[in-house]
Amino acid sequence: MAVDLHIHSKASDGTLTPETIVEKANRLGLSTISITDHDSVASISTAIDASDTLPLTVIPGIELSSVHQGRDAHILGYFIDFTQPVLQQNLDKLTASRASRAGDMVKKLQAEGLSINFGEVAAYSNGGAIGRPHIAQILLKHGFVKSINEAFERYLGRNGPAYVPKYVLEVTEVIDLIHSVGGVASLAHPGVAGTSEEFLAWLKEKGLDAVEVWHSDHTDQEIAHYQNLATKYGFLATGGSDCHGEGKSRGFVLGSIDIPDRIIPPLLARSRQVKQLRS
Ligand code: AMP
Ligand code: FE
Ligand code: FE
Ligand code: ZN
Repeated sequence: MAVDLHIHSKASDGTLTPETIVEKANRLGLSTISITDHDSVASISTAIDASDTLPLTVIPGIELSSVHQGRDAHILGYFIDFTQPVLQQNLDKLTASRASRAGDMVKKLQAEGLSINFGEVAAYSNGGAIGRPHIAQILLKHGFVKSINEAFERYLGRNGPAYVPKYVLEVTEVIDLIHSVGGVASLAHPGVAGTSEEFLAWLKEKGLDAVEVWHSDHTDQEIAHYQNLATKYGFLATGGSDCHGEGKSRGFVLGSIDIPDRIIPPLLARSRQVKQLRS
């Protein structure tokens, strides 16, 4: 059976509710999923409740952005004890700074002559962690761009006139935070950032547990490459679509990659080890 351990919901920059994600995953016959919102755990308990009567397991997850020496690293956390106050405190700080950063980006867009306001963006994000995709949606709604991709290319991307970097933790802080709540830490989409072997070796020393081998943006060669590096350095393998909803964000489709469910037991075993070390 197949699994999908990288899914975004409305709690961050995805468009689907946790109920819909669970229903779709079940219809696809997936055995296990994880909702891994950016800086939010708000969808997890609803998803777990929705899966209660279904032959589908929902692993509590999260995706946290981080940086190390100017390099971005997205870290996925699995089997996290998502109700712990220390986690929520950190997430509150990250989401508050996302909101003020979105306000700054809106001001830059206004300076470009695009009349949108922060209230619309905040309303669209509906209390979730605000990201650039929400701003892109408002630009699309007003007809300032014809697609989400155009919004990123013209305004919101790294080199765009409205880009504002977001506040992130250092990668070792993120790994430690995930471990502190009993989670397993996996490096998301290493192929997207072209993660080097040297950086992976360093992350191993810092306690990283796993690498996301399967991802919608990975070529077959990248899958094989990171599978080999995972074996070489003793990382567990994770994988997921990085689906953000339908027809959104580069068309990453829920359950669209054939990721084997044999990856689940080692992750669970690792999380038990982490929890034991903490207690
Ligand atoms: P942020 O966390 O606010 O910096 O926004 C990053 C998010 O934007 C990523 O998680 C993706 O969901 C989305 N994203 C990044 N680049 C693009 C793109 N070119 N087209 C569509 N969505 C993108
Ligand atoms: Fe995203
Ligand atoms: Fe990511
Ligand atoms: Zn993601």
